[in-house]
Amino acid sequence: MAEKTLFQKIADGEIPSDMVYQDAHCIAFRDIQPQAPVHILIVPRKPIPSLDDLTAEDQDLVGHLFLCARQIAAAEGLSRGYRTVFNCGEHGQQTVPHLHLHLIGGRPLRWPPG
Ligand code: AMP
Repeated sequence: MAEKTLFQKIADGEIPSDMVYQDAHCIAFRDIQPQAPVHILIVPRKPIPSLDDLTAEDQDLVGHLFLCARQIAAAEGLSRGYRTVFNCGEHGQQTVPHLHLHLIGGRPLRWPPG
């Protein structure tokens, strides 16, 4: 069996996290190095390495991640807006090879990103 990813270990409770939401398809927990007052990672339980590895069968799952982001943003009081980001690959600065959607908010965010 393939070795568990960091985020699978978090999902399985083997690594502690500040979990804010979970359901049958995904988990969401606070980023350990927050870039804003609210910085939450929404992670599918399925260990898809990156956006580049998505297939047509993941279509509903990706939609689900965004609906969860919206629900969590509301629960976190982000009524003035927020940002969702999938980093992908080397130039995208992805560091954990398990697909995850960043939900960032709680302050005005700059654009363009660095
Ligand atoms: P990325 O660079 O897009 O792959 O994002 C990975 C994110 O995971 C970074 O923002 C890290 O701060 C975060 N991270 C790494 N390890 C942990 C952990 N144990 N708990 C919570 N967040 C983590």
